[in-house]
Formats: sequence, structure tokens, C-alpha cells
Amino acid sequence: MGETKTALITGGSRGIGRAICTRLAKDGINIVFNYRSGEEAANETIRLCEECGVKVLGIRADISNPDECSDLIEKAAEFGDGRIDILVNNAGITRDSLMGRMKNEDFDAVIDVNLKGTFYMMRGVSKLMLRQKYGRIVNLSSVVGIMGNAGQANYAASKAGVIGMTKSLARELASRKITVNAVAPGMIATDMTDAMTDAAKDAVKQSIPFKEIGRPEDVADAVAFFASDNAAYITGQVLCVDGGMAI
Ligand code: NAP
Repeated sequence: MGETKTALITGGSRGIGRAICTRLAKDGINIVFNYRSGEEAANETIRLCEECGVKVLGIRADISNPDECSDLIEKAAEFGDGRIDILVNNAGITRDSLMGRMKNEDFDAVIDVNLKGTFYMMRGVSKLMLRQKYGRIVNLSSVVGIMGNAGQANYAASKAGVIGMTKSLARELASRKITVNAVAPGMIATDMTDAMTDAAKDAVKQSIPFKEIGRPEDVADAVAFFASDNAAYITGQVLCVDGGMAI
């Protein structure tokens, strides 16, 4: 077996990001994650990862800011003794409204975090992965990036963009056997979906062949697969974790 790996997960303080941190920690991987402002939630992620017996570091950083991304990558590499073996771009936001009413700032905010933030992180970490001759990048897209969704033009554009960037970087890094894949969740129970009304949640549930909302752990298992050596020959793929929603 090789040395202990280090993973950097964005938006690891809550929801799917926290489930990914704890899932990778259970695989014995040291964890660095960032969050934007929720320190209390971040401390809980730290506690859960430490319970798995790995080293963990939580850092406050806004991924829509390129300088903060550079700083985050530097600190993560320092923590990993010069290495970041796995990058999971999970941090994301929504600012929903029908297109006719969508404000410029709501469009920009979603693109800045979901698309540009993912770009800043992939650009910085892939350079390090090329030097260390190893890497697994997993990006969080969404079925909305594949199917579209009324009221989420900004979010759909950002998540479709994440798929385009995933496939492009997968092609750029393939000769070095560094893999870049995406996981596209359907509707998962987190704070993000908690903001929906019960009626809206029920309507979505009816559109899911499984008639059930997914759990953050369902998504984390798919991310852990792409991050593992079992997925060494898989790159540029998008795996829907959605109870059949995008069939
Ligand atoms: P969530 O519960 O709202 O958690 C979002 C996480 O991202 C938090 O840790 C948050 O930190 C962090 N974050 C937000 N903006 C940030 C920024 N500018 N810089 C750094 N960190 C930031 O979201 P979730 O439901 O777990 O979703 C995780 C990912 O899955 C997202 O990319 C989302 O688009 C995608 N996804 C979710 C669903 C779903 O149904 N939930 C479906 C499809 C795709 P703070 O706590 O500090 O704000």
C-alpha cells in the first residue's frame, strides 16, 4: 500500500461536502476542506473526520475569489507534505428565479462560485498533480446541468459548464493518467434543498423514478469511487446519482 493520501474538498462544512469529507476519511485519507462562513458546522466536520483517525484541516476561504483559492491550495499542499492527491469541487450555491426576473447579480454570483470557483481550483491543483504525477479530480455538477430546470437558468448554466470543463481537463490530463470526472446529483436532502417549499419538494419527488429524495451519503459513495484506485481507467465521465431522475 502507498502513503496516506490527502484530499481537498471545497464546501466541506455541510451537506454533501461534509458527507464526502467523512466518507474519504473512513477510507483513511487525510482531509483538508474549506467553507465560506459557517465555522460551527466546519468544526463538526472536523470532529467527524477526526473520529475516523485521520488528520483534518478546515480553512475559511471563498472559492469565488482567485487569490483565496491560491492561498487555500498552498495551505492544503503544505498540510499534505507537498501533495494534494484528490480534489473534490463541491462548494456551490443557488439563486433561483424565472429568467425574466433574474437579476444580473444573481446570475453572476452563481457563475462566480459554481463555475469560476471550480475553474480556479482545477487550474491550481492540476499543476501540482502534474508535478506529483498523480491525481483524481471529482467535480459536483447536477442533473439540472443536463436536463435544465425552470427557475434555475443560472445554476443550470454553471453546472453544464462544470461538465464541459470536466471533459476538457480530462482530455488535457489523460496522457498523465490523472483522472477528471463529475458526479451529477438529483435531489438530495441538504440545506440547499431545505429552502424549497414542501409543495415544490413533492412535485420533484413525483418526477423521480425512485419517488425518493437522495441522501448526501449516496453522492459521497460515488465521489469516493472516482477518487479511488478502482476508477483508475475512467476519465471524463458524468455519473448521475439521482434515483433515475435524468434517465
Ligand atoms: P449546501 O448544503 O448549501 O452546502 C454548501 C457548501 O458550500 C457549504 O459548506 C458552504 O459553506 C460552501 N460554500 C458555498 N459558497 C461558498 C464559497 N463561495 N466559497 C467556499 N465555500 C462555499 O449544498 P449541498 O446541497 O451540500 O450541495 C453541494 C454541491 O452539490 C453543490 O455544488 C450543489 O450545487 C451540488 N448539488 C446539490 C444538490 C442537492 O439536491 N442538494 C443537487 C445537485 C447538485 P458555508 O456553510 O460556510 O456557507
